[in-house]
Amino acid sequence: MPWCEQCSKYHTPSAMSDDGTCPVCGGPVGESELRAAEVAREESAPWHFKLLVGATVAYLGWRFVQLFV
Ligand SMILES: [Zn+2]
Repeated sequence: MPWCEQCSKYHTPSAMSDDGTCPVCGGPVGESELRAAEVAREESAPWHFKLLVGATVAYLGWRFVQLFV
């Protein structure tokens, strides 16, 4: 849902100007904050992946050490 910062309101895509600006104030219209949070969550995925890999490596390393104890 397109969100206009200057009007602080949502606009339906069909109500948008042809050039993608706000039909009320003519300012730039971005996607909603929900969409922004969605993107931020996708970008944070590698962080969890690294944590998972790190935990797996630590576990396997510990098992490897146990072989010699
Ligand atoms: Zn506006």
